[in-house]
Amino acid sequence: MNQHMTLKPVPFIDIGAQRRRLGKSIDEAVARVLAHCQFINGPEVTELEAQLAKFSGAKHVVSCASGTDALLMVLMAKNIGPGDAVICPSFTFCATGEAVALTGASPVFTDVDEATFNMDAASLKRGVAAAKKQGLKPKAVIPVDLFGQSADHDAISAVAEAEGLFVLDDAAQGFGASYKGRRLGTYGHATATSFFPAKPLGCFGDGGAIFTDDAELAATLRSIRVHGQGSDKYDNVRLGLTGRLDTMQAAILIEKLKIFDDEIAARNKVAERYARGLGNVVTVPHLAKDCSSVWAQYTIRLPAGVDRDGFAADLKAQGIPTAIYYVKSMHQQTAYRDYPVAEGGLPVSEKLSDDVISLPMHAYLDEPTQDRIIRAVRGAVSA
Ligand SMILES: *Cc1c(COP(=O)(O)O)cnc(C)c1O
Repeated sequence: MNQHMTLKPVPFIDIGAQRRRLGKSIDEAVARVLAHCQFINGPEVTELEAQLAKFSGAKHVVSCASGTDALLMVLMAKNIGPGDAVICPSFTFCATGEAVALTGASPVFTDVDEATFNMDAASLKRGVAAAKKQGLKPKAVIPVDLFGQSADHDAISAVAEAEGLFVLDDAAQGFGASYKGRRLGTYGHATATSFFPAKPLGCFGDGGAIFTDDAELAATLRSIRVHGQGSDKYDNVRLGLTGRLDTMQAAILIEKLKIFDDEIAARNKVAERYARGLGNVVTVPHLAKDCSSVWAQYTIRLPAGVDRDGFAADLKAQGIPTAIYYVKSMHQQTAYRDYPVAEGGLPVSEKLSDDVISLPMHAYLDEPTQDRIIRAVRGAVSA
């Protein structure tokens, strides 16, 4: 019998391990909400927003129902709609471009940098040119901090300033990471994040938040969050959403935020060990100068000639799960293939979609389990 058959399957992310560590503190936080019964707009929501402001350095934090709503609400607040273009990378989770399309504006997809997987500023310029050629008005750019690593915000802001674009950072995967020594949440005009359970800082359901230093924008977002409510609560002054984060999730996040820095350090240790164990057989992730990562995913690239499906099957047979983010870049997906792309096409995004694969990554991945993964990857690559 194959010796691997006796080994326990490895979880891709281990939410249970974190739950055990937090133990009673979560139970008690939930019990407090169950006792006061303010399930919407309870005191924990305000408390969490204050804590997140402190953590990120942003002046205003508006919590909301999901990362997708966080992006959408900012675009709505900026009155982005039909005839407008919002430039975003194609190699990202679909919500980045989806939020744009939901407003009636057109996403325009750019390519990414091959080493960091993040938006390529030169392609951003070509995306703006493509938008203008189509008669669209370029209004905003959404850089994404993909897989947990900060995008090159200075390079993107330089183009954005020259073109008069609003910058909305999609930090759904990167919240907690920093750029030039400062945490995400203060780059661009606004930052969106997600608290989906699998994100580096996740709750026990759906949730999100928006960070900004712009008081007027924050006030508009608070109105959009409750159906466009005005100062007279019976007179709605704009369109909005049911966009609130519920109190239970806020209470859980307050407890999780207390250990987030420690978890980020643990994730970085795991990433360093992966790089040492795998750096000479596959392409391991590259951290750009001045950028840190919270390792939402640990994504490697397989060498030419290694069949990705065969590689994944080989690991699976040994109880090791993998995932492919992203099999198709956004411009290759059915719902998005008719939107414009940057001039010259998106060859890097297409290449990455063909050869990336993500390995188990979380703060509680112990060394023996990680060594088992490293051995399996090395074996599968040379098989
Ligand atoms: C997860 C994610 C989102 C959306 O967040 P939800 O909370 O799932 O709506 C947006 N952008 C990126 C890059 C993501 O990874």
